[in-house]
Amino acid sequence: MTARGVLVFGIVDDGQLRPATAELIGAGKALADDGAGPLTVALLGAVTDAHGEAVDRAGVEEILLVSSPEPSFEAHVAEAALAALIESRRPSVVLAGHTVDSLGFAPALAARAGLGFATDVSGIGWGEDGASARRGAYAERLTAELDFPGRETVLLLLREGAFEPATAAGSAPVSRLDLDLAGAARTELVERRTPPAGDVDITTADFLLSIGRGVEDEEQVAKLEEIAAKIGATLSVSRPLVDAGWVPSDRQVGQSGRTVAPKVYLALGISGAVQHLAGISAAKTIIAVNSDPDAPIFAAAHYGAVADLFEVATELQQQLG
Ligand SMILES: Cc1cc2nc3c(=O)[nH]c(=O)nc-3n(C[C@H](O)[C@H](O)[C@H](O)COP(=O)(O)OP(=O)(O)OC[C@H]3O[C@@H](n4cnc5c(N)ncnc54)[C@H](O)[C@@H]3O)c2cc1C
Repeated sequence: MTARGVLVFGIVDDGQLRPATAELIGAGKALADDGAGPLTVALLGAVTDAHGEAVDRAGVEEILLVSSPEPSFEAHVAEAALAALIESRRPSVVLAGHTVDSLGFAPALAARAGLGFATDVSGIGWGEDGASARRGAYAERLTAELDFPGRETVLLLLREGAFEPATAAGSAPVSRLDLDLAGAARTELVERRTPPAGDVDITTADFLLSIGRGVEDEEQVAKLEEIAAKIGATLSVSRPLVDAGWVPSDRQVGQSGRTVAPKVYLALGISGAVQHLAGISAAKTIIAVNSDPDAPIFAAAHYGAVADLFEVATELQQQLG
């Protein structure tokens, strides 16, 4: 498979560069290092030089700033811009975020342009046969390894939080690319409503104390939240606790919750269903406490204890609180 390069497609919406762009660049660099060819970052929106500087990371060979006629994200403009970029550059791989924005244009573009395509991708690779991708299948009961035979360009939407962000500074040339996007927009932004912010953002926490159905009743949740606060951890949960209405959904980790990347993920009374594990693959250290020695979480954990979660939580409070 000819390596014609990797294109990261980043969005600037209302002046804000999507934070996940750093992860797209990190993933793009890994592909470039594996031989997929040079890494280009294209940014679409009301782009400024500062946005160009923000994506100037080690491994990026070229940065393209594409001005959109719309200050806010507009799916048809994004589709037209990416179609033109692919047409002119013919990259082997295009990376974009698995976001509501991308889902508004990427599937249509992939179908129209005959691209290889996968959404919600949590792993990528490059080899003799070109790009490959990993994602959940059958409601995350299986992990599917995908390849894209015969596709000149593959468009992959990457799951947020699943890839290491690029952090080292780079020195790529930045240029403006004029694309004819006038008239591409087909929707009008009437009003922007921001949902009320939750009290915590588990996706940015370094230390998560995560509890599951093993806690058994709602009263224990408050006690464990208190212990979490005392030991400097943020409380997160598995889905049954959200379904029971004990904890708000912004604390849920997993496929239908958040993808987290803490330094330490301490799982108390969580069995380790695939849908839960889908959200913790980027955690640096996973520590599992479960009374069942056969709980699947132990296969994913770096450290484990077959123990009662309440005894461990109490001991932690005494040692660290
Ligand atoms: C489409 C779909 C999407 C889903 N998305 C998500 C998701 O985003 N996040 C998610 O978490 N789940 C998700 N699920 C649900 C998932 O399949 C599991 O049902 C769920 O993760 C189980 O949660 P749990 O581990 O807390 O509960 P359980 O599987 O019931 O496990 C409880 C564990 O606690 C242990 N335990 C009990 N008492 C103690 C004790 N005293 N001390 C120590 N250990 C104890 C038990 O041994 C057991 O292993 C999804 C399911 C579907 C079908």
